[in-house]
Amino acid sequence: MTTSNPLPPKERMRIPRQRMPEQPAGERRENFAEVNLGLSAALAHQEALRCLHCKSHHCFTGCPVGVKIKDFIELILVGDFLGAAAKIREDNVLPAITGRVCPQEDQCEGCCILGKHGEPLAIGYLERFVADYERQTGQVGLPPKAPPTGKRVAIIGSGPAGLSAAGDLAQRGHQVTVLEALHEIGGVLIYGIPEFRLPKQIVHEEVENLRRLGIEFRTNVVVGRTVTVDELLGEEGYDAVFIATGAGLPVFLNIPGEHLCGVYSANEFLTRVNLMKANQFPAYDQPIYDCRGKAVAVIGGGNTAMDAVRTALRLGAQTATIVYRRSEVEMPARIEEVKHAREEGVQFLTLANPVAFLGDDRGWLTGLKCQRMTLGEPDKSGRRRPQPVPGSEFEIPAQVAVVAVGNQGNPLVQSTTPDLKTNPLGYIEADPDTLRTSKRGVFAGGDIVTGGATVILAMGAGRKAAQAIDEYLKNGKW
Ligand code: FAD
Ligand code: SF4
Repeated sequence: MTTSNPLPPKERMRIPRQRMPEQPAGERRENFAEVNLGLSAALAHQEALRCLHCKSHHCFTGCPVGVKIKDFIELILVGDFLGAAAKIREDNVLPAITGRVCPQEDQCEGCCILGKHGEPLAIGYLERFVADYERQTGQVGLPPKAPPTGKRVAIIGSGPAGLSAAGDLAQRGHQVTVLEALHEIGGVLIYGIPEFRLPKQIVHEEVENLRRLGIEFRTNVVVGRTVTVDELLGEEGYDAVFIATGAGLPVFLNIPGEHLCGVYSANEFLTRVNLMKANQFPAYDQPIYDCRGKAVAVIGGGNTAMDAVRTALRLGAQTATIVYRRSEVEMPARIEEVKHAREEGVQFLTLANPVAFLGDDRGWLTGLKCQRMTLGEPDKSGRRRPQPVPGSEFEIPAQVAVVAVGNQGNPLVQSTTPDLKTNPLGYIEADPDTLRTSKRGVFAGGDIVTGGATVILAMGAGRKAAQAIDEYLKNGKW
């Protein structure tokens, strides 16, 4: 593809990466509104001018769903923002979401040649810009839909895996019903990632677009309780089932004092605020421990931990501290989240691991007993293994603690579907190419197969499942 970029490559490389306008740190820690404000058309054009349009376009290989990055950048350069959004939607149905939450530094931007000599192209910012332009002009086009096939598919779970599978299957003419245990659609996008990173209105709009495609959404349906997989395939008459129930079961530290009042799992803490609006108590009737003026400690170094600690600040915490057993270099959170957290006043206590929660005689949390850590050889994750330093215990005060050290697969569907094979960690076994499970007509994908991963990987799994389900519905072969 030729480019309409008027600048020679050397000049393009002299343009600095454009900065994302954002709410000032001092202001935003007082509110839940979105931190990043989005690029203007002029900033987006300036950023697009930096693209070298290299032949090898490594960025494309870095995107798990293969967004045609070079092509959409070219459309930005000629001012065709709707065309750019449509180009992205060919491979990614939720661009306003991925433009905001993808860990671009490990994916598309991590492979950008510009990054070898300076800062990579801001692909995520550009993706967000065109997706927002499309939304704000109300011109989100519906993809073409094949004639009805008469086949019915049930999708269990409405996170990014379930939503992307639903969209693709509806486009292929199948009748799709999404069954969701919670009262709102969106999975982690709704109950986990806070408003200040991903406004819920965006998720609602994307769900509305899927509804317009004819997808039926049923909330408050707990598969395994309200209905089982066998009933879906039997009396309910579905031809195939896709399980996309995610990894929402919190992992705890299993250390003394974890039962104390004031200790939360990150899932509970974030769900109370994001989904049930505990930050607006008593206007909404969901309470949360009053963090105002308190010391809050969040244990973990991933996106979930950053979301929890920044939420605690916005709830009025006097101090909000990340306690992480490795160093900052090993933190799995997106770089931008760590930067934003630091700017907002979050404190980082690294190379420290809690060994006990401390409480008063009424059962309320008063602090954490921690141990200093040092880093040893890399473990199988490639990160250096933390090792305790003997005799290094120390205490920090905390009236609220949030445990954000990981999640496991939601177990209910597996435990109520006897012929569904799981691995020793409880995740569903599925063929990596077809996402078929051990049970005929049942497919699985997203975090319930891989363990906690990313939004775009879950969406990629949803697309793969839709393709495989479509083939199965057409030829009946298993
Ligand atoms: P989920 O999004 O977990 O959705 C599963 C859905 O299934 C849920 O709605 C659940 O209620 C429903 N369900 C479960 N059991 C049943 C049942 N029995 N019956 C009916 N419904 C059921 N990734 C990124 O790329 N960038 C980020 O910035 C990022 N931040 C994150 C922040 C937090 C706080 C968390 C928790 C995760 C974050 N992730 C991030 C990871 C990402 O959100 C997940 O990898 C992704 O959402 C997985 O998608 P999924 O569709 O597999 O599952
Ligand atoms: Fe990059 Fe994510 Fe967009 Fe792919 S979907 S181009 S990884 S921001």
